[in-house]
Amino acid sequence: MTHLEKRYRVANGERFRWSDIDPQDTLDFADADATRALRKQNADAMLELQDRLYAQHRWSLLLIFQAVDAGGKNSTIREVVSDLNPQGCHVSSFKVPTDEELDHDFLWRYLRRLPERGMIGIFNRSYYEDVLVPRVHPEVLQKQRLPPKLVGKHLWTQRLQDIRATEDYLTRNGVVIRKFFLYISKREQRKRLLARLDEPSKNWKFSPDDVRERAFFADYMRCHQDAIRKTATNQAPWYIVPADHKWFAQLIVASVVTRTLSQLKLEYPKLDRRALETARKALR
Ligand code: AMP
Ligand code: MG
Repeated sequence: MTHLEKRYRVANGERFRWSDIDPQDTLDFADADATRALRKQNADAMLELQDRLYAQHRWSLLLIFQAVDAGGKNSTIREVVSDLNPQGCHVSSFKVPTDEELDHDFLWRYLRRLPERGMIGIFNRSYYEDVLVPRVHPEVLQKQRLPPKLVGKHLWTQRLQDIRATEDYLTRNGVVIRKFFLYISKREQRKRLLARLDEPSKNWKFSPDDVRERAFFADYMRCHQDAIRKTATNQAPWYIVPADHKWFAQLIVASVVTRTLSQLKLEYPKLDRRALETARKALR
């Protein structure tokens, strides 16, 4: 198995900068066709490893996807999930919080969706939204109904500390966490948003919010960078995935998933031999 993904791994974020990665990067691959064989090999390995993960029923895998609008979260998730056994994974998409969700601490709605042992859980957006949207738009923070006394200038640093501590806690309980930022350029975002307007089959994806939010592109990138710097750790690393070319982002994400599972040294549980013999005799 090649380690394509290593280049994009951020495990100690302190000095991470966007300029470290080029969103147009495709390593030495010319186009999607050039990745087919590798993708197939990877998909076969991933399915086999997932089977062991499920059978062994000890670890679980949490894959977190973040990106700016039109970053390709949906298509990347669709591609990766299509290589898996649907019985062993579930996808949770997090939208604008409901009233019920706003009546709880910010982590509440995410923690309810964590994958059980043996399962792969995929988060399409995550608790990282809570250090992005309300940070860029103070009126969104108002809606979270925090006691005013608790809202100070350290709020974002505190939330990031809480996220980091939660990820450590989960890691120590057998939840393996991998985080992906699908990194597109502002130019590619414009192209994709225009396609949503121009192509009837993509119209449904268009939201006027996307255009309004685009004006805050730099703010979002700044908040994301801060989040990555403060939460990239060895046990819960970020991958900054060049995503201007969707096929390349899919290749990298799939390699990370396969590599992560293979590092767990998953084994099928061994049944007691005497019990096997007794059962065999009974069947005969
Ligand atoms: P989409 O993923 O395109 O369907 O859009 C979901 C929307 O929900 C995006 O505009 C997100 O910014 C927004 N959203 C998700 N999580 C939160 C959150 N915790 N606080 C505020 N807005 C959120
Ligand atoms: Mg959207």
